[in-house]
Amino acid sequence: MLLLKIKQKVVEYGEKIVKEGLVVATWGNISARNGHDDVFVITPSGMSYTILEPDDIVEVDINGNPLSPGRKPSVETPMHAAIYRARPDVRAIIHTHSTNACACAVARMDIPCIMEDMACMVGGPVKVADYAPTGSQELARNVVKALGDRNAVLLANHGVVTVGRDLEEAFKLSLLVEKSAEIFIKAKLIRFPFSLNESEVQFLRNFYRTSYGQGDKK
Ligand code: 13P
Ligand code: ZN
Repeated sequence: MLLLKIKQKVVEYGEKIVKEGLVVATWGNISARNGHDDVFVITPSGMSYTILEPDDIVEVDINGNPLSPGRKPSVETPMHAAIYRARPDVRAIIHTHSTNACACAVARMDIPCIMEDMACMVGGPVKVADYAPTGSQELARNVVKALGDRNAVLLANHGVVTVGRDLEEAFKLSLLVEKSAEIFIKAKLIRFPFSLNESEVQFLRNFYRTSYGQGDKK
């Protein structure tokens, strides 16, 4: 994908995470690989999503170093870079501070795999990465470890990260994790959240990858 096109897409998904209430003000960040495996583009640090232009999106190498002069990249660039290095299948990453997911992150409680759609798309529970300061290499390491081969992870006392094969998938996962966290909290209030077991999760994940939908992208 052309550099300008992928930057435009990042701007577009910034507008979407604000519209869906997944972030407030300038928090959260979005990145996507730029066709090459060793380069990605990422939102600038501390800028409102509503004023972003493609030119504000920063191109960085796989270690998070900017490739040209321009805006300062997100403070979480080391975390995005670490995920891309660990997961060649990941082509887009969205970090939000959505409310119900953050409630679980604050309680430091994994979201168990409680829903069919969660099993299909996340591939298991959403685990909480150990606390580390914003922007640190320690946070990057903790996030990669807790993410494993699944597609979402919580950051203790901070937020949520979702990953996908493109921005559309990472965005769907941001909505799905937020909804799953809300269901988990409500189920705990009324009774007890029963989790799907490992073979049920594997069946659904496999079904989603091989047979669900129109067979265009799985
Ligand atoms: P940036 O504005 O630098 O991306 O930081 C926001 C954030 O959510 C830090 O975790
Ligand atoms: Zn954050």
